[in-house]
Amino acid sequence: MMYDYVIVGSGLFGAVFAYEAGLRKKRCLVLEKRDHAGGNIYTEKRDGIDIHRYGAHIFHTSDEEVWKYVNQFARFNSFINTPVANFNGKLYSMPFNMNTFYQMWGVTTPAEAKAIIEKQRRCVTGEIDNLEKQAISLVGEDIYRTLVKGYTEKQWGRDCADLPPEIIRRLPVRFTFDNNYFNDPYQGIPEDGYTAIIDKLLAGADVRLGADFNADREKYRSMADRVLYTGALDAYFDFRLGHLSYRSVRFEDERFECENLQGVAVMNYTDRETPYTRVIEHRHFNRKTVSPVTWISREYPVDYSETGEAYYPVNDRANNELYARYRALAEGEKGLILGGRLAQYAYFDMDKTIRAALDLVRQELG
Ligand SMILES: Cc1cc2nc3c(=O)[nH]c(=O)nc-3n(C[C@H](O)[C@H](O)[C@H](O)COP(=O)(O)OP(=O)(O)OC[C@H]3O[C@@H](n4cnc5c(N)ncnc54)[C@H](O)[C@@H]3O)c2cc1C
Repeated sequence: MMYDYVIVGSGLFGAVFAYEAGLRKKRCLVLEKRDHAGGNIYTEKRDGIDIHRYGAHIFHTSDEEVWKYVNQFARFNSFINTPVANFNGKLYSMPFNMNTFYQMWGVTTPAEAKAIIEKQRRCVTGEIDNLEKQAISLVGEDIYRTLVKGYTEKQWGRDCADLPPEIIRRLPVRFTFDNNYFNDPYQGIPEDGYTAIIDKLLAGADVRLGADFNADREKYRSMADRVLYTGALDAYFDFRLGHLSYRSVRFEDERFECENLQGVAVMNYTDRETPYTRVIEHRHFNRKTVSPVTWISREYPVDYSETGEAYYPVNDRANNELYARYRALAEGEKGLILGGRLAQYAYFDMDKTIRAALDLVRQELG
């Protein structure tokens, strides 16, 4: 055999596995169907600015081991995500906190804010059988209508009254003046971009770009006894049981001849009329950025069929059942290991991806 492992996909999962396997003297071939490595965390420089080509990626974790691990490969800055919500031109702080409540109601104390939310929650009666009722019962009518409804409807392409309540089990409400979006103790952005991390992780492996494993499965399978597959599971089986559903995002990039367009890295557009959900201004991820121009990306939620890029699994009952049937098929495939967000048909943040890859390394390689 030419290799110990054929790794399908050069995203974070495949790259961490390749690095660890290399440390244990295993020979790895990494196949990547795109024309660059890194999967969705890929960043590229334009006008001296790191562009997050597949959406804003903010590293945050409570897992100390993962934080130490990733810091071997990059210097992280002290970026804290403090997104701003824009509802028909009026701005609100995120996540929902005392700044938001002051902007919305003019209240200045936690007790006043709690009293309003408590009163507004009570209007929901009967069974909570859709997302609208679920959201109002968690945060009250005003926050729901201003900051949740339009955004969620654009994201899923359906009315909140027609969406299942399970999509939002909780909506964090904070009764302090604290705009930090995440609760994790560790947060930041790699100063040289995520691609620099991926390059280090893949340095010891053979990497083939523009190579789709599913286009020549037999050939690639004959190159190693073990295949780590991080692509979509329905594609591995040529969709023989049907297609798994995904939501996707279309990114529209624009360059502006100014240094600062919106004053923040992430602005959420929470009204229904604005067709995009977020505008990312990439330079704000790194205070050290020096550039006379700025780049933004508008994010339009779209159907998977529009982009062919699978971003968010639609984990409803029908899709989860279909996935389970594919999983059962995969068990019959000798030497096949599944890993990463696509093969597992689940959304994972980067820290969870690294954690899962390290767990697999321990299981596979000790
Ligand atoms: C819009 C968006 C925003 C996000 N923001 C954050 C964030 O702020 N913070 C955070 O922690 N996480 C965020 N994430 C999650 C993060 O992107 C994932 O944790 C990470 O990318 C998962 O890595 P992966 O290797 O599992 O998958 P991927 O990055 O998808 O990598 C899989 C790779 O496999 C390749 N591939 C698939 N099929 C084949 C095939 N047949 N042959 C060859 N190659 C193949 C793909 O081209 C891809 O490069 C975000 C995700 C999205 C979609």
